[in-house]
Amino acid sequence: MVLLENAQHVSRFIALANVNNPAKKKYLYAFSIVPLKNMDPAELVKQPQDVTENPYRKSLKESKKDKPAAAAAFQEEEPASQFFFDLGKKQQQGSVRKRHSEGDRPTQPKQPRRPPQPTGPCWFCLASPEVEKHLVISIGTHCYMALAKGCLTPDHVLLLPIGHYQSVVDLAAEVVEELERYKAAVRDFYKSRGRRCVLFERNYRSQHLQLQVVPVPVDRCSTDDIKEAFMVQAQEQQMELLEIPQHTDLKQIAQPGTPYFYVELDTGEKLFHRIKKNFPLQFGREVLASEAVLNIPTRADWRECKYSREEEESLTKKVREEFEPFDFTLMD
Ligand SMILES: [Zn+2]
Repeated sequence: MVLLENAQHVSRFIALANVNNPAKKKYLYAFSIVPLKNMDPAELVKQPQDVTENPYRKSLKESKKDKPAAAAAFQEEEPASQFFFDLGKKQQQGSVRKRHSEGDRPTQPKQPRRPPQPTGPCWFCLASPEVEKHLVISIGTHCYMALAKGCLTPDHVLLLPIGHYQSVVDLAAEVVEELERYKAAVRDFYKSRGRRCVLFERNYRSQHLQLQVVPVPVDRCSTDDIKEAFMVQAQEQQMELLEIPQHTDLKQIAQPGTPYFYVELDTGEKLFHRIKKNFPLQFGREVLASEAVLNIPTRADWRECKYSREEEESLTKKVREEFEPFDFTLMD
């Protein structure tokens, strides 16, 4: 499950040959060991590119009979939200960075790192080989913006890191910085159209960070109404949704690898839920589609919001044009 689950510690196995074996295969290996407590938590759960599934998994699976759970986890990765993008010139930058960082060791976590790479196919890594370029609205240095597949409203967008980061708490500082610029730009964009900006992230059964950004007309609801809707629906589902101080860095309350759901309202107010199990995958969307907020309950399920490729193209083009005056990547 290494590749499918939330990030957790990775073990490294090294096979060595017998001492003085006639084939002269390597029988000595020098380790440079850093104690766990001195390691950056993000570094600790980072999965190396050559990571594989647990080779003993099969026998474990047979003994525990947990096969259905594994299959379910895989299927719920929301395949319909997938898209890929050809990175073009940014890929070259990536390879330059790679050369610089080849000496990277856990002992020097402050060194600039190249963006993490996916260990398998990822629908949101901008450098993935198969692309649905037509959904991309804007591309920065570390992040990009895309139309949400099956969007709740025609200007419901996603903010995503270009590299393979699982959640906001895993992001490198420079990625966080650009993500904040994007958030501010989208907030201004919505504001100019009389809309409040609601952001949410579900770090659960998702391999690549997708920050959902949904506009709510100012005259429909106040920020308090939106907050109330989240609170009420969380309570109905017996989920503890906590209001956290506005300037809380999520890293302070959620270690990398911890599943969570969080909402950021247009006032900067934040709601946080630590996911234990069975989190309703569409929760954020359901709340926003509900009568109390956007009142488009039939659109709560993204599978009911399918557009043709042509429709997606024209929606994306429209948002791209409208967002242009706010797009800092075009001004830098
Ligand atoms: Zn990815």
